[in-house]
Amino acid sequence: MNNHIKIAATSPLLEVRNLRKSFGGRRRDSGPIVAVDDISFTLEPGECLAVVGESGSGKSTLARTLLRLVEADSGAVLYGGRDLLTLSHADMQRQRRFLQMVFQDPYASLHPRRTVAELISEPWEIHPGVVAKAERKDRIEALLAEVNLPKHFYSYYPNQMSGGQRQRVAIARALALEPKILILDEPVSALDVSVQAQVIKVLMALQERRGLAYIFISHDLPLVRLVAHKIAVMHRGSFVETGPTETVFENPTHEYTRSLLASSLSTSKGVDAH
Ligand code: ADP
Ligand code: MG
Repeated sequence: MNNHIKIAATSPLLEVRNLRKSFGGRRRDSGPIVAVDDISFTLEPGECLAVVGESGSGKSTLARTLLRLVEADSGAVLYGGRDLLTLSHADMQRQRRFLQMVFQDPYASLHPRRTVAELISEPWEIHPGVVAKAERKDRIEALLAEVNLPKHFYSYYPNQMSGGQRQRVAIARALALEPKILILDEPVSALDVSVQAQVIKVLMALQERRGLAYIFISHDLPLVRLVAHKIAVMHRGSFVETGPTETVFENPTHEYTRSLLASSLSTSKGVDAH
């Protein structure tokens, strides 16, 4: 039996309800780690939701659970009128096209022996209907242009590029299937500060041009303030505070948010994407 959840016509692009994921708990000395603890939120088309919180707060597990790279214990992830968590493997594979992930380290996420053209076309092997074979070369060039890389990068290998260029290839690949949502897990944290702004600029332009929705995971609060429409502050698996970006920055209500803001002020390096 499929458990169908009815959604109104005005429903958000993505709605997450009471998502939970724990690890372990077999050892006598410790209970399970609740990495994602009863998280709910919505995401509208074109919206950027930042998820901020210190290392170990559960941000990556949340991202992976949404895409079923790890399976949730319970909850619902509603997209396009269906709960992704209850889909068959094949159905989930089809839906993944619309929710793509960009990881922190592009060197680890791009196969070292494939050219940029091969890397960007990889998703079309699994979803052959998205771009006709005859159009793929042009589409790869268009995707490269969208991430501000010149055409001749087509035949480059990952080790011939800088970290920022590699991350832009990873973004181009994530776009190959024309997703509606990008989940960006610390997308510039592994990059030199000097190239972070280029990548952020590309992401902001893309969002505007394509109307993409982002779940932008980061611990860089000045950066988040620049890019996000709304913020969720994650602490020990829970969202302790959510709200419009400026409201949370100007008027944080939770103690943990205040301490996060205070520590970011003392270490702030500032990122200028303009
Ligand atoms: P963040 O991305 O915010 O740094 P993570 O989601 O990586 O946090 O981790 C949240 C918690 O879940 C941590 O305590 C981490 O050790 C634990 N965790 C994450 N993945 C696993 C796993 N595969 N097995 C066991 N524990 C895990
Ligand atoms: Mg993480």
